[in-house]
Order: sequence, then C-alpha cells, then structure tokens
Amino acid sequence: MTVAVPPEVVSALRQARHVGVLTGAGVSAESGIPTFREALTGLWARYDPAELASPGGFARDPERVWRWYRERRMAIARAEPNPAHRALVDLEGRVDRFTLITQNIDALHARAGNRDVVELHGNITRVRCSVENVVVPDFEDGDAVPTCPACGACLRPDVVWFGELLPMTALERAWAAARDADFFLSVGTSNLVEPAASLPWIAARSGALVVVVNPSDEGQQHGPTIHHLAGPAGQVLPALLAAAWPDSAAETPRVDS
Ligand code: NAD
Repeated sequence: MTVAVPPEVVSALRQARHVGVLTGAGVSAESGIPTFREALTGLWARYDPAELASPGGFARDPERVWRWYRERRMAIARAEPNPAHRALVDLEGRVDRFTLITQNIDALHARAGNRDVVELHGNITRVRCSVENVVVPDFEDGDAVPTCPACGACLRPDVVWFGELLPMTALERAWAAARDADFFLSVGTSNLVEPAASLPWIAARSGALVVVVNPSDEGQQHGPTIHHLAGPAGQVLPALLAAAWPDSAAETPRVDS
C-alpha cells in the first residue's frame, strides 16, 4: 500500500511543539483485538452491550459480566502491540511535547513503550472494588467474581461503563492537550463516543493541524485544517513518520509526499 502524505502535514509534524494523539479501537485492530461490537459473537451475540458493560447489568448478573471481561482480558493478554503502537512510541521520542490519549482499555500503548498514556475509559487489566472504587492489585481471575479483601464487595473491571462518568483528571488532561497541541492525530476512532469525539474539533478550533487516520471516512471530521490519511493505522502511522523523519523507515510501506 502506498500512503500519500501531503507536504503540509510533513512540515507541520516536523515543526510541531506539542503533538496530541487520540486513539480508538481501530489502532488495536491489527493486533487482533475486536472492536466492542465485533467481540459480541458466539455465546455473547444474544446480549445487549448494556447488559455486559453497565452498572445495572453488573448488579443483575455479576458472574456473567465477570466471565465476559475475563474472556476479553485473556484475548488482550495474548495480543501484541502492532506497527501503529510502535510508531507512536517512536513519535513520542521525536517531539518536544507529546500527549497520548486513548479510549482503549487494552493497555497496548503502555506495553509498546509509551511512557504516559491518558486512559479515558480505564484499563481492563486492572480491577477495583465496586463499592469503594479502590484499585485492588491482586485478585483470583477465575470464573467466579472475586471480592474486595477490605470490604467483601464484588470486584469489577476498572473500566468506564455505559452511563458512568469519565475520570475527571484524564478528561482535563485530554482537553488541555487538545487546546495546546499544534499537531493532533485522531487514529482508529468512529467518533461515536463523547467527549472523546470532540477532541479533534477542539484541537482544530485551537489552531492545530489535525490528521485523521482511518480506513473509513464514516463519522470523521472535515475542515480546512483536517487531513484524512485513509488506511490501516499499522501502515499509515509508520509511513507518516517515515515521511517526516526518513531514518524511521524500519516498518514502512512506500511513501509519496
Ligand atoms: P469503534 O469500534 O467505534 O470504531 C473503530 C474505528 O476504527 C472505526 O472508525 C474503524 O473504521 C476504525 N478502524 C478499523 N480498523 C482500523 C485500522 N486498522 N486502523 C485504523 N482505524 C481502523 O471504536 P472507538 O471509536 O474506540 O469506540 C468504541 C468504544 O469501545 C471505546 O469507548 C473503546 O473504549 C471501547 N473499545 C476498546 C477496545 C480496546 O481497548 N482495544 C476494543 C473495543 C472497544
């Protein structure tokens, strides 16, 4: 695949003072991690997402919700970061300021080597007490729902469910980065979920050049300073880096700039 990177994108990236990045489920697609709806297959196909990922669904049937997250946790543990994750590690090392904001709960950015990831929707590898909201580092990951060693309540995945508020510190950092960045990447998100969907707009309105990386145009932002690089992130991101810094060409397909 040939990725055409416009020259204004290359020069904006090379000159960027602060690069902000928002990622969604698409950045992990090439690691084999299905998007939320794609994961609702087989036995799980008959469930409404709200029954598997909401406080009400957990209250009604904690065992079922636990089993569903356990399956996802095991699939994520088997997955490896892909060239898109690695390109973002490379990018972090090349720019003065870098803020990586993710809607993903799979922790693959950290496993790839990014140092500081703003997790808007939590992290499936952590669990917390469903009553005290305290993260519990050790737990028995079987089919039965483990309980909090302090209060005995059920443990739950440390992720944001439908109807829950996002962690305020993460959200404030994301908004601040979108306002401050002069180059902003939006990678592999369908923009269906607010407030993450507004971040590229905030960045564009604050003067950043925005680059959308997604094979699909559906739901993507458009505007004079918003560029769309169509294609899978695992090919487009290495190509973008190679266009800006030709020494980063290790995993790169052909680039036209
Ligand atoms: P989404 O599933 O709504 O959309 C995925 C987007 O990725 C689509 O726009 C699709 O066109 C694009 N895409 C598919 N393959 C791609 C590729 N190879 N490269 C680049 N883009 C690609 O995802 P979302 O916008 O992140 O919202 C879904 C919600 O579900 C989020 O809240 C997220 O937390 C959660 N989720 C997370 C994971 C994960 O942690 N990996 C997986 C599934 C869902």
